[in-house]
Amino acid sequence: MKRRDFIKYGTILAGACGICLFRKCNLFSPDAVDVNSVQEIKACKIPFERMEILAGGDVFPCSATFLNSKKPAGNIKKQDIQEIWNGKVYTQLRNKILKGDYSLCNTGNCYIYDYCSPEKISQDYKNGPKEITIGYDDECNYRCITCRDNVIINTSEQLNLYDKFYLPKIIKAAENAEIVTLLCNGDPLFSRHSKHLMSELVKAYPNIKFRLTTNGFHLDEKTLNKIGIQNNIQVVSVSINATKRETYKKIMRTDGFDIVMKNVEMMSDWFKQGKIAFLNLNFVVHLMNYKEMPDFVKLAKNLNAKAIFTTYKPWVGAKLHKKYNEIAVFEPTNKHYKEFSEMMKNPVFKDAEHCKLESELYNLAYS
Ligand code: SF4
Repeated sequence: MKRRDFIKYGTILAGACGICLFRKCNLFSPDAVDVNSVQEIKACKIPFERMEILAGGDVFPCSATFLNSKKPAGNIKKQDIQEIWNGKVYTQLRNKILKGDYSLCNTGNCYIYDYCSPEKISQDYKNGPKEITIGYDDECNYRCITCRDNVIINTSEQLNLYDKFYLPKIIKAAENAEIVTLLCNGDPLFSRHSKHLMSELVKAYPNIKFRLTTNGFHLDEKTLNKIGIQNNIQVVSVSINATKRETYKKIMRTDGFDIVMKNVEMMSDWFKQGKIAFLNLNFVVHLMNYKEMPDFVKLAKNLNAKAIFTTYKPWVGAKLHKKYNEIAVFEPTNKHYKEFSEMMKNPVFKDAEHCKLESELYNLAYS
């Protein structure tokens, strides 16, 4: 994935797609997609299982960085979900994939492509998406140095749009959903809209599960109970980025380390009790924190979690992106690269149970 793609689209890993939510709608006729003919063809299920709603209400049939075209399939501000779902972009993508034609996919960027197999697509897809990804809500109590320079709070217009207009459409679209993923644009346990959305989803579908990415500050029992999702969390990914309180303070620009660690310990207990399926601890690697990477894996191991390392991307929302060359220690041109690449030989990074590395870090650890 090229860095300019991250600048434009962020780290959003969309997946997406379509399903005829409204059985009477004939936009999505059986003639349009013949799911019975694909047993022998490598078929990506993403367009049959997921939909992703991103900034400004744009709906993508798959990640903007995975597909060749960056054009959204539609927009929930202007269209009904079923119109988008059964529209040209979705149908065309599904049809091509069912013929084994991946010409719309950037298979070099898409990591899912490698895992696709010649499985039959279930007719269930007609009943609605199995997974809905929410990626339009930026409201967050933090302003991490890598992400943004100001705390972002939704305006009353945005809140009104999200609560009154998006929310009912999402509830309807989630009729067949098993998972709702809240991406890391904002903090879903702080954002008023995301909390409201999760509460309403649980009321409508008591078995629905959530995948949350959070800074962890509000990852406490009281908040989860108040939202009503204490029994509905499948995955928690907590962005910590440091093992030392002082480093945390510099990167996250707030002194929440002790609170977050207390909350993560509670999540570790929940994982042991089987209340959640996965606990991830996120770490964005750059000059300010790279020396703490080995200890971060040990921290994850002690908490029965997995450390997830990704390289810093130059997000334009924060001035730090102007210093990319200076802080990107994983770039061969950086003056700390030699030391960094030697550190990556530490065997701790090969503990696959507790450590997951983005590809360029993986290559250094395993070279
Ligand atoms: S192969 Fe990749 S790009 Fe193509 S539809 Fe599947 S997830 Fe999207």
